[in-house]
Amino acid sequence: LSGKLSGVFDGLSKRGALSQEDVNEAMREIRLAMLDADVALPVVKEFVKKVQEKSVGQEVLHNISPGQAIAKIVNDALIDALGGSGAVPLALNAAPPIPYLMVGLQGSGKTTTSAKIAYFLNRRERKKILLASLDTYRPAAQLQLQQLANQIRVTALPIIEGQNPLQIAKRAIEIGRLEGYDIVILDTAGRLAIDDVLMQEVQNIRDAVQPVETLLVVDAMTGQDAVNTAKHFNEKVGITGVVMTRMDGDARGGAALSMRAITGAPIKLVGMGEKVDALQEFYPERVASRILGLGDIAGLVEKASETLDIEENERLAKKMLKGKFDLNDYSTQISQINKMGSISNIMDMIPGMGKVKEKLGNKEIDTSILKRHQAIISSMTKAERKKPDIIKASRKKRIAAGSGTTVQEVNRLLKQYDQMASMMKRFNKLGVKGLMRQGLS
Ligand code: GDP
Ligand code: MG
Repeated sequence: LSGKLSGVFDGLSKRGALSQEDVNEAMREIRLAMLDADVALPVVKEFVKKVQEKSVGQEVLHNISPGQAIAKIVNDALIDALGGSGAVPLALNAAPPIPYLMVGLQGSGKTTTSAKIAYFLNRRERKKILLASLDTYRPAAQLQLQQLANQIRVTALPIIEGQNPLQIAKRAIEIGRLEGYDIVILDTAGRLAIDDVLMQEVQNIRDAVQPVETLLVVDAMTGQDAVNTAKHFNEKVGITGVVMTRMDGDARGGAALSMRAITGAPIKLVGMGEKVDALQEFYPERVASRILGLGDIAGLVEKASETLDIEENERLAKKMLKGKFDLNDYSTQISQINKMGSISNIMDMIPGMGKVKEKLGNKEIDTSILKRHQAIISSMTKAERKKPDIIKASRKKRIAAGSGTTVQEVNRLLKQYDQMASMMKRFNKLGVKGLMRQGLS
């Protein structure tokens, strides 16, 4: 735990068993953090009560502080409340065509999510998917799904004017059966608020098609309201899983905890953006830290440790400090950065970064320049990489031609390297202490 919470935990430094007072103090902060993350109040109360009971009297091990002990209990309880560790997959083992029914309020992201799931299952699981829109209320709704289907090259049920949602659903299953589809995704209409006519309609469809998955789509940004929606849909229709959309925004994901507590159904997937590939499996560990205000640290750490070679990095850092950083090292550094994946993907794991991305025009941050630098370096000889000073005009021409770049680009790279090298020399002269004094470290 860090940020707001860590201060409180640090305050608890006594050893021995956790006292009521220790726990109460920490719980006040946890409560605020959870409300801040939009967890519904009754769910917060229940959670805090459980953790309190678990914590008081708990022995604190010698090597950790009481704060750390509570932090661990809270984190474990949160993961548990979110469904334990690991993701719960979509049901794929049933007789085809497997009906999936998508339900939720208008604007929650049902249509987009239907297309995302189709894309995900088609590309990753090689499933043959039929998408069908049952939304006959909004004029363009059926077309919206058809366009998305075209975009991802998945089949959409042909539109027949004048059919009601129940008729469309039956036709979709029939075609699914006749034409050998694995999964038929039924995208229903939503309303701005729960209403009985809508519920009745969804019930009729459910009874007719017997869905294997009934997925409730909820907007993570709606926080507290989502609870009522979930309660209603679960009572009236019965849901098998939840998809939380707009987790790419600032929402800390508290709704996930509420959803799980109220429906008992697992959160299966999260929507991370408007594009069809912006769908991820739900990992309780990651959302737990997000609710506590930490960002998806686990995801980041995992990604970093998967890809970064720590020893390699340390070796580079030492060389830098000695002022012996050559172009070979620069090239190694670039491949490490590339291995981390796109910068924009990494930013997705940090709540609040959505805004920063928006400011950048939501564009993929350009890393192509790094790849070009690497191409240039690989066209150099060993001697040139070790001693870039020897690279004069004719060598530059040869390198540019060899790497498919221009002499200007080679110049830019050399200039950048020069700047790096001279900065490192300065660091080196000052020594680490000097750096700190200068505020450069
Ligand atoms: P429906 O009325 O429930 O079918 O909702 P739609 O699928 O039409 O989605 C409503 C809006 O939300 C559209 O503009 C979508 O692009 C957007 N949307 C859906 N899912 C996400 C998501 O995960 N992140 C973001 N940022 N936008 C989303
Ligand atoms: Mg829709």
